Amino acid sequence: MLRPVALLLIFLASSPALAVETMRIAMSEARTEVQVSGQGLAFGTDTEDATFHPLGARQVTVRRKGRKLEVNGAPVVGDAVRFRAGALSYDAGVPGDEPLRAGDMQVRGDVVVRLYRDGLQLINVIPLEDYLTAVLGSEMPVSFPAEALKAQAVAARTYALQKKLEAYGSAFYLGSSVLHQVYGGVNREDPRTRAAVEATRGEVLTYELAPIEAYFHASCGGRTESGQAALQRDLPYLQAVECPCGKLPASRWSADVSEAELRSALSGSPEGLRIAGRTGTRRVSRVTTADGTTLDGARFRQRLGYTKLKSLDFEVEKTAHGYSFTGRGYGHGAGLCQWGAKALADGGWEYREILSHYYPGAELQQLY
Ligand SMILES: [Zn+2]
Repeated sequence: MLRPVALLLIFLASSPALAVETMRIAMSEARTEVQVSGQGLAFGTDTEDATFHPLGARQVTVRRKGRKLEVNGAPVVGDAVRFRAGALSYDAGVPGDEPLRAGDMQVRGDVVVRLYRDGLQLINVIPLEDYLTAVLGSEMPVSFPAEALKAQAVAARTYALQKKLEAYGSAFYLGSSVLHQVYGGVNREDPRTRAAVEATRGEVLTYELAPIEAYFHASCGGRTESGQAALQRDLPYLQAVECPCGKLPASRWSADVSEAELRSALSGSPEGLRIAGRTGTRRVSRVTTADGTTLDGARFRQRLGYTKLKSLDFEVEKTAHGYSFTGRGYGHGAGLCQWGAKALADGGWEYREILSHYYPGAELQQLY
């Protein structure tokens, strides 16, 4: 058992000298120039063993000039430059701890500015545990009980490592929007999220010794969805399970949708709109209209908007002005249910129990 986990660890660490697991997160893009600022600002090449040179300025401007980069008007070698704040960490193979401001975000770790398409791209190179502290505050209310926050911390760490393995060698592994994990930088840290990340440091969910695809969502409405039905990911640990969130009033939603909105979502007349198929957990898998247009449930939700049609567990009725939708849950429904995790934690469950409930068969491993 020990050996494969050790191999996985070697594979994950990009350099033997690197003491911490890091992530590369795409922050934002800029057209021609961007400001980077921080205390004791230094710069180097975009490598793990780079030497950093103090800039002697608290703020610099990085500009794109053709196929070249300039820092405060001076040309730099290569197609990327990496910044670090905090004089003490210039030589260590560990990204800086002093926050940096770049574009519209303040982050820990290093900031890479690189040539990207015909503009610039900003990437945050950050220790995984710092990244998780910030992600947790954006993904789950910090007022949730500690065991729910810990379960979310393990799920987010596992999700991040799995994406890192998938994207290995790429300039970045994850974006910072809701498409991946919502990342808001230093401003989203909280003592409670840091405590949950610290308490589970290095803990990852695995299946057959690889990090699992640890999907999560806000609320399932009473029963989670299988990975296959929700995301076309037929995985043994993503099965439909019962969940206490269905009893919470917050899991109910309703939405009025106009004829025009439906016409645009369906690319045709919504006349006679009805549900034509449901999954094993009664989520809508197909809708159809009088003129024979049919649409996959997930596509229908995407086109109407994820915040409008909060889940696929819904009923629909025609009204005088359009259509009325009523449903339960928020999100795709696969994997960990956050409101369910809160309800279980309130009932005395520990984070390990919560995780094995939502990811049956996955093993909790201490990766580092
Ligand atoms: Zn639930």
